[in-house]
Amino acid sequence: MAYDFDLFVIGAGSGGVRAARFAAGFGAKVAVAESRYLGGTCVNVGCVPKKLLVYGAHVADELEQAAGYGWTLEEGQFDWGTLIGNKNREIERLNGIYRKLLVDSGVTLLEGHARLTGPHEVEVDGQRHTAERILIATGGWPQIPDIPGKELAISSNEAFYLDTLPKRVLVVGGGYIAVEFAGIFHGLGARTSLLYRGDLFLRGFDGSVRQHLKEELEKRGMDLQFNSDIQRIDRQADGSLKATLKEGRTLEADCIFYATGRRPMLDNLGLEHTAVELDERGYVKVDEQYQTTEPSILAIGDVIGRVQLTPVALAEGMAVARRLFKPEQYRPVDYRGIPTAVFSQPPIGTVGLTEEEALDAGHALKIYESRFRPMKLTLTDVQEKTLMKLVVDAETDRVLGCHMVGPDAGEIIQGLGVALKAGATKQQFDETIGVHPTAAEEFVTLRTASREMGASKPA
Ligand code: FAD
Ligand code: NDP
Repeated sequence: MAYDFDLFVIGAGSGGVRAARFAAGFGAKVAVAESRYLGGTCVNVGCVPKKLLVYGAHVADELEQAAGYGWTLEEGQFDWGTLIGNKNREIERLNGIYRKLLVDSGVTLLEGHARLTGPHEVEVDGQRHTAERILIATGGWPQIPDIPGKELAISSNEAFYLDTLPKRVLVVGGGYIAVEFAGIFHGLGARTSLLYRGDLFLRGFDGSVRQHLKEELEKRGMDLQFNSDIQRIDRQADGSLKATLKEGRTLEADCIFYATGRRPMLDNLGLEHTAVELDERGYVKVDEQYQTTEPSILAIGDVIGRVQLTPVALAEGMAVARRLFKPEQYRPVDYRGIPTAVFSQPPIGTVGLTEEEALDAGHALKIYESRFRPMKLTLTDVQEKTLMKLVVDAETDRVLGCHMVGPDAGEIIQGLGVALKAGATKQQFDETIGVHPTAAEEFVTLRTASREMGASKPA
């Protein structure tokens, strides 16, 4: 049967655009449907605008440190409207670039909501299109727990478009988004509290990293409330919000921001017209080649709920395009050792196993850990410390994990990701000449193990 397209991609986000462009480049006839914004979450309400706001908040640090370097500045004034306006202009520019990328690569762009009407058929704005293969790349959506007054709370989607900077903000959650946005609001001058339901935020990150960030955020004056959860939210007569916590305490705020995870975006997608199944967590079920339980339909990115990061969605998009249309170039995505950063203030950079994961996996370990005051702060009154940590297999000398909390952690960890992928040993780290004077050189000058533990150590 002749189809209208070889590949129909639903969602022009990180993964969808990558798959569509490369498939078209390999000679396939491709369409992509997008209902909301070109570039998806990352470009519009994710990585990019978030990083711009982080830069904005970081200016406050620079201003604070300027006096130590001899600069006298008049008291700075911050205008939220200017930052958001400039950010919006940049996002529009990027939307245009994404449009051009798709059109120039020969992809048919359909702007509208796509709904599956069969295993080979998609409807966009009443128009039906057939395709030999369909790729679901519809991403995710913020999830707010079902508590009374939840409609008074906002998510990251709305935070990027607030009219004014709230004076008092409660951030709920303890993952990437909560920690990053608490840093943005606090850095820009809002009185910020971060409420997390567990003992310590950033579950799954290395224990030293979590503890170090907690201490640094507290030094900066952020209010961290762990073992706290909101039971209900009410609007008060003066327009402000009142959060009643489970233990009965109340907190007042002008904005309550929930960052409690994201669900797969499957709204009105028409999966019922196909044999596509969901996994036990509600994400689209795929095999290792992103094949769903419907032979003609594949899925990638946040909607499959593996690793919700843009570079992972890009890699999955590329893998699908290659497997379908350039099989000789196909390589499976390697999910081991994915470097990642949390753009908190100070930021986290991490790659490889945490100490806890390495121990659980049965490794005998040597842990190298260093805390120091970055050189840049020595002429200032700022007492912030940087943390660097290597998790090393005591038997093979292989570096299993690198973790950092401190300025430029994301930039530094990217290169170490290559070293870990190449299987670098601690000796090879030691034999690498440092770049002086930098913070990064600490990673190649950690000579003495802070502690040893695990399998080979007698109890
Ligand atoms: P998306 O980028 O979400 O794209 C899905 C697209 O599909 C959307 O444009 C949507 O409108 C469209 N769509 C949905 N349903 C339909 C339909 N039925 N018809 C037509 N179109 C449809 N990751 C990082 O690596 N680094 C970061 O710093 C980072 N920061 C983040 C900050 C925030 C606040 C958030 C929310 C996420 C962040 N992420 C970050 C995660 C990253 O944005 C996602 O992992 C990535 O965007 C996933 O790409 P995707 O292609 O799966 O989906
Ligand atoms: P995360 O899954 O990272 O974190 C969710 C947080 O909310 C956890 O602390 C979780 O607690 C808590 N939580 C979940 N449900 C509830 C509830 N019902 N009540 C109270 N707390 C709850 O999700 P995010 O929303 O922060 O981000 C989504 C994903 O987007 C991230 O996992 C990441 O993959 C990606 N992202 C990446 C960024 C980057 O690369 N810099 C930046 C932003 C997002 P608990 O730990 O106890 O389960």
